[in-house]
Amino acid sequence: MAKKAITSRSKSQPTARAAMPVKQTPKAARPKSTKAKPINSGPTKFKPIKFKPWTHAEVAEVFSRFRKANPEPKGELEHLNPYTLLVAVALSAQATDVGVNKATRHLFPVADTPERMVALGEEKVRDYIKTIGLYRTKARNVIALSEQLIALHGSQVPRDREALEALPGVGRKTANVVLNIAFGESTIAVDTHLFRVGNRTGLAPGKTPLAVELGLLKIVPPEFARHAHHWLILHGRYTCVARKPRCEVCIINDLCRWPEKTV
Ligand code: SF4
Repeated sequence: MAKKAITSRSKSQPTARAAMPVKQTPKAARPKSTKAKPINSGPTKFKPIKFKPWTHAEVAEVFSRFRKANPEPKGELEHLNPYTLLVAVALSAQATDVGVNKATRHLFPVADTPERMVALGEEKVRDYIKTIGLYRTKARNVIALSEQLIALHGSQVPRDREALEALPGVGRKTANVVLNIAFGESTIAVDTHLFRVGNRTGLAPGKTPLAVELGLLKIVPPEFARHAHHWLILHGRYTCVARKPRCEVCIINDLCRWPEKTV
């Protein structure tokens, strides 16, 4: 299978509650979680602005331009099959695609199936991915999700959102990436770049990645739905960058609603 990609990140944020005395439940009485917490559930901080709504024609124009500039957009996470795609996306939380690729170029040739990953063992997986953030948790999740794939899905990656999200360390965004890239479904995985672009442009403002995802699903015309998330992620990664967006070379700058755009 051709190499493809995507990225993902999240931020944990301290809250005011941390400073307050909290009545503790005895450890033994607390219910045990049966599922690892997704570590790439996406960004949560962005202040939406009120925008003039986009018309259908304007949205179609934006995606026509993206398609014209890049008819077959690809992600940048390297993988060999749906299983290694799933692992690569799970590893990419709070890490760059470049960093993940550097590690998986050595890992995947020796562990490209759940069985081979489990046989390799958590300690060795840790060694392969120790240059990636949160590598201890990620190594544990990779082994656990591989074991679940073997036990529950005949070692195959399920084409089913619920089943994917039930895997250790897999959240909605990872499931969306796998469903889109491995199975050709028109899902939209909202990472930090797409979250920013959805809000800045006013295409799909939202306080959470899920709100942005649902907003985009409502407005993206069906003919662009398959590649919409790639176009938007790449736009955010290379043009509508976080600190100093490159509005002067942006192909949608006349349509963008961001009041601070520089053109
Ligand atoms: S005009 Fe500027 S802010 Fe708007 S989408 Fe383009 S790069 Fe981003």
